[in-house]
Amino acid sequence: MDAVNTVTPSQRNISILHVLQTVFGFDSFRPNQEDIIRAVLEKRDVFAVMPTGGGKSICYQLPAILMQGSAVVISPLISLMKDQVDAAKGNGIAAEYINSSLDADQMSDVIRRLKGNKIKLLYIAPERFAMPQFVAMLRDLPLSLFAIDEAHCISEWGHDFRPDYLSLSGIPAKFPGIPVTAFTATATEKVQQDIIRKIGLKDPHCVRASFNRPNLFYQVSPKTEISQQLLEFLKGHEGESGIIYRTTRDSVAGTAEFLSTHGIKALPYHAGLSTDIRDRNQEAFNRDEVFVIVATIAFGMGIDKPNVRWVVHADLPRSVEGYYQETGRAARDGENADALLLYGPGDIASIRWHIGKMEDSGERERAEERLREILRYAESSVCRRTQLLAHFAEQYPGNCTRCDVCAGEVVREDLTESARKVLSAAVRTGERFGAHHLVDILTGNPTDKIMERGHDALPTYGVGREHDRDWWLALVRELDAAGCLVRGEGRTAGYGLSGKGRLLLRGKETFLGTRSSVERSPQERTEPALLDGPAQEDLFQSLRHVRKRLAETRRLPPYVIFSDKTLRAMARNRPTDSTGLLRCPGVGDAKLAAYGTLFLDAIREFLSRAG
Ligand code: ADP
Ligand code: ZN
Repeated sequence: MDAVNTVTPSQRNISILHVLQTVFGFDSFRPNQEDIIRAVLEKRDVFAVMPTGGGKSICYQLPAILMQGSAVVISPLISLMKDQVDAAKGNGIAAEYINSSLDADQMSDVIRRLKGNKIKLLYIAPERFAMPQFVAMLRDLPLSLFAIDEAHCISEWGHDFRPDYLSLSGIPAKFPGIPVTAFTATATEKVQQDIIRKIGLKDPHCVRASFNRPNLFYQVSPKTEISQQLLEFLKGHEGESGIIYRTTRDSVAGTAEFLSTHGIKALPYHAGLSTDIRDRNQEAFNRDEVFVIVATIAFGMGIDKPNVRWVVHADLPRSVEGYYQETGRAARDGENADALLLYGPGDIASIRWHIGKMEDSGERERAEERLREILRYAESSVCRRTQLLAHFAEQYPGNCTRCDVCAGEVVREDLTESARKVLSAAVRTGERFGAHHLVDILTGNPTDKIMERGHDALPTYGVGREHDRDWWLALVRELDAAGCLVRGEGRTAGYGLSGKGRLLLRGKETFLGTRSSVERSPQERTEPALLDGPAQEDLFQSLRHVRKRLAETRRLPPYVIFSDKTLRAMARNRPTDSTGLLRCPGVGDAKLAAYGTLFLDAIREFLSRAG
């Protein structure tokens, strides 16, 4: 008999909150967590798209604690499982994993404890589900729920397809009556439907959380002297963990070496390095032994580290989707973090070169479209957040205050006259042509296409010679991002004018655009909220030392002990007894018992020094 079904709804509310506070040490739920937990407790299947850092783990760990039997968590990365299990154990939850890294003895020990109903959370790699014996063993166990992490890996439409995941197909049918939950941080509607169908979820409770990450500050700057710009940026982020993304292995190696010879320890990560070296470098980053990783996008899904404080893209990423996911690796702990994109015209040329090498014309077209979208993001003076969220079909009104545009750092000029020239060229040619043709008209470029159509006779022909091609192309993208120009449907579709564009053309609106932006100085870039006065910063640093020493002796990543957010709260509140410590987010009963004394001692010592 399931204990959960014997309690009334209000008793359940109390117990859910009680577990959140005593086991996880949090006062309240993040958006969607509570709904999902309720659905699971009612034994419904769940499908949830939540951004990285949205707090997916609690959605299955908490009901697992309240329900009878073991919860099976399917997670794609063996390298992460140990940390995930350690983190759960740190909160006092009986957790284990089964994967190829266990020897026969360890494996049978885990299975024995499973059969004895001693394990609440069991982490498993997906390939186990291809083994009928293993599945049969699971069917004999009392199970509470299934949680499929990174569920998009089951879809060929997604960007991370893993054939292993196909063996998860049909779990709901094989385990009737046991709720199956699927989580991902990336899924378009199409991928969502594909995942639900492939797994075979039954009438799932669906959640699409907002993709807004309010704690990230988005900034775009022109790339001038990349090495110097990186040094300058890093000066403002000393002692903070961060990732520099570059597109090629050579530039990754070069940048890591350059930084290291300039006094900033940085490790490389790319697919050309051996698995050993990659694992070692990632481990060093995880354990705060090195703060800077220079990586290609091969450095991805495995990053569970919550205190990544900044992400720099030193080259233009190939898509907005990729950019969002990569910047999303910062600030999982909910503290502030910086996302800086540096790009120059050279980046466009190198992406175009890659596109040119693609054989499939459909693929080429999709890549072109992705390039146009990321360029609109990088070059326009529309709130960066509004643009990123538009990619996920979310409407965001702008004025976010946490991007360079909204913070007033992007210099805007009145470009009304130039904008009208573009719009007029579009109208005079029947609103059927793309950016390049419009710019050929404005700059007076007598291409075959221009001459054949007699566009050299238009009054707008050559009226834009005061600027070069790139300048005009960027303006077209900006007008697109601002919603003045809209693209028609289909392959050859050109630009037409929106209502807003028509007002602008008729002189009823002005257009403020950006053709230059400024670097923020490192001092300005550091968020005041992180400083909290020098004394608090001192205490925070001592607490970090305590955590680091503890992490070393217990051979755990520091964040498994406490997150930065928890340490910040300790530094701010300075609790001197266990009650006070329990009030800090992230401190539950188990962690209080395991680490409380050490941290309280450090705080008391600090207060006596200060006092
Ligand atoms: P995801 O898997 O969605 O990326 P995690 O489950 O790793 O996210 O959670 C991200 C961070 O947010 C973790 O440090 C976690 O402890 C914290 N967190 C989760 N839920 C809450 C909550 N309700 N209140 C405060 N912090 C939370
Ligand atoms: Zn903004």
